[in-house]
Amino acid sequence: MDLAKYPFLAEAGAYLRDKGFNLEQLGHPDWAPLVDKAYGRIVVASSGQIYGSDSRLENPDMEILSFIVAVILLKAASVQTLTRRFALAEARRAERYLQQDLWSSKKSLDLPLKIIRELFGVEVSVESDEFVIRVSDYLKRAVHFHEKEWKLVNRRVGSGHVRLTAHETVRLIRTELGQYINSRIQAVSLPQIPEAFQARVRDLVSLASRFSDAVVVSSDYPPCVKHAIEVLEKGENLPHSGRFLLATFLLSRGQTTDQIAPLFKNAPDYNERITRYQLEHISGASGRGTKYSCPSCDKLRSENLCFAVPECDGVINPAQFGKRRPRPNA
Ligand code: SF4
Repeated sequence: MDLAKYPFLAEAGAYLRDKGFNLEQLGHPDWAPLVDKAYGRIVVASSGQIYGSDSRLENPDMEILSFIVAVILLKAASVQTLTRRFALAEARRAERYLQQDLWSSKKSLDLPLKIIRELFGVEVSVESDEFVIRVSDYLKRAVHFHEKEWKLVNRRVGSGHVRLTAHETVRLIRTELGQYINSRIQAVSLPQIPEAFQARVRDLVSLASRFSDAVVVSSDYPPCVKHAIEVLEKGENLPHSGRFLLATFLLSRGQTTDQIAPLFKNAPDYNERITRYQLEHISGASGRGTKYSCPSCDKLRSENLCFAVPECDGVINPAQFGKRRPRPNA
């Protein structure tokens, strides 16, 4: 049951051996529903959604095997975009279970606390239904969040420790969970795959081509914009002001709303209709036709969205970054 919730903890080869399977057997037509389920798991992840297992995990073997087969299909298709999205979606799925396990009875606390301790080095203790972690562990992670509630001054702190809810404890390690799952996938060496898997591998390659019209992320973007893109790629919540910066900057560089919209797909609160509406509004294509400009560096600094580097010297608006500026007195 635990591995069905956290299938990335299973060592694929050992798991199959323990169950008396080998990959070749899974290529038999009787196992086609499993391969379809694994493929479906990737498709759901690619759309920015979280794959929904049945709530009681009544068939844990199918849950674990579909994860293992999904990883093998991804390795065979060798498409990084899909692998990243899959790792992120699986991290969000595991996050739900971790949260549930922390919330529920004391007897199920051992595993989630062990996962958080052993995988991410964060020691969590429980006091009066609250979760307590060291300030240093907290700051290392919360520094990447921009919402006011994550600022240390807004937390309950005592004796070098911070008190958190179950949701906040798990939220704090989301990025690391995604990175961990991604690293586990990268570490798998691709076995000889059954012929029956090949059609799904081709489907994945074709699925990945749908993401090729995504925005082009150029190395000459300013650090504030790169940071905003990274936050979204990790599935973190980018505050409204960060989304506004990203949209106005990319529009100023000639990107279209169709190219920009997919960037927001990983946002925890993603809604395609609202995203497109907002982008069209910012671009001036709808509403009163006002085209909004990129906010100034001063404004971004005040919102903790500036990550200046020496190349930012003399820049007062991110839209100027990387463009030649007249020298003073020239
Ligand atoms: S100085 Fe301006 S361009 Fe540079 S990171 Fe800060 S906000 Fe962005």
